[in-house]
Amino acid sequence: MSRGRDEVEVLAPSSLREAVQVLAEVGAEAIPLAGGSDLMVAFRDVSKLPRGFVLDLLGLEPELRGIELVEDEVQIGALTTVDDILHSSLLAAEARPLVEAARCFGSTQIRNRATIGGNVMNGSPAADSLPALLALDARVTLLSSEGPRTVPLYSFYADYRRPVAKPSELLVSIRIARAPANPIESFRKVAARRAQAIAKVILAGRAWDVRAEEEGVRIGEIRLAAGSVGPTPMRLFETERILRSELLGPRLAAEAVAVLRSEITPIDDLRSTAAYRRLVAGRLLEDFLGSLLLQA
Ligand SMILES: Cc1cc2nc3c(=O)[nH]c(=O)nc-3n(C[C@H](O)[C@H](O)[C@H](O)COP(=O)(O)OP(=O)(O)OC[C@H]3O[C@@H](n4cnc5c(N)ncnc54)[C@H](O)[C@@H]3O)c2cc1C
Repeated sequence: MSRGRDEVEVLAPSSLREAVQVLAEVGAEAIPLAGGSDLMVAFRDVSKLPRGFVLDLLGLEPELRGIELVEDEVQIGALTTVDDILHSSLLAAEARPLVEAARCFGSTQIRNRATIGGNVMNGSPAADSLPALLALDARVTLLSSEGPRTVPLYSFYADYRRPVAKPSELLVSIRIARAPANPIESFRKVAARRAQAIAKVILAGRAWDVRAEEEGVRIGEIRLAAGSVGPTPMRLFETERILRSELLGPRLAAEAVAVLRSEITPIDDLRSTAAYRRLVAGRLLEDFLGSLLLQA
């Protein structure tokens, strides 16, 4: 493969096998292009134009687009669009918070182009799908010419928009366990508007095995995750631990809100302030805990 110093070459493999072979050769110089809804915006800044190869993933759609049950997990191909997610009856049954994230994602045009793989690899702390996927315990599968590897999403980001994937690896799928019996779930995005807005705060949650006892409500299992409140989307392990530790009532709810507010690390930026984000993240948790008390 040869090219002039300043030329950009578009490579369009027609199979996954071919794509990973190309990446093995030129990975460090290649930028995978899925729906392009992040990349084409980035390319408007000339300094961000690719210097080597653009790897157009469109030809991999037959292998990487789709939502299916594989053994006991739901597998979402990396090229599945946000619109596919919004209209999936399998995900409506098994991964409600992800469908809710898709509902408030961009516009119809963006949902038709944007892929779940692009959202995961772009790794914005404000990405809508990521808190939902974290609350659903998602794992991502990467593939290189050396074979596949699977990484839990909670350890996938080393820092701000820095997924741990190597240049030789493609994201091929996202897997989530099937829904437990009687889950109580939530996805809440707070932004300046209901549509076409970047999140100021996101909170996603799933609880199950939630039982009313004489003195309060026992939360058997809970997963919580937040977006736009730190350099990466965050699973809220400490807050989860507190909520499993004893019966849920006003005292534990207040303690959990305090823990959440210290677990997140929001900043002041164009969209909001750290103080507002802390306040609202706590309120969203209060709301979710209220729904657990009502539905137990
Ligand atoms: C007007 C507008 C509105 C938007 N609204 C929202 C919103 O409401 N919520 C939200 O979360 N985001 C939003 N976005 C951002 C964007 O649409 C999403 O992040 C989208 O999911 C990106 O997917 P894509 O397929 O377009 O990715 P691309 O732009 O093609 O790629 C994004 C990044 O992922 C890499 N990549 C893509 N696929 C793979 C793969 N399989 N393996 C390895 N690397 C890969 C690319 O190299 C690139 O670095 C919006 C963008 C625009 C322009």
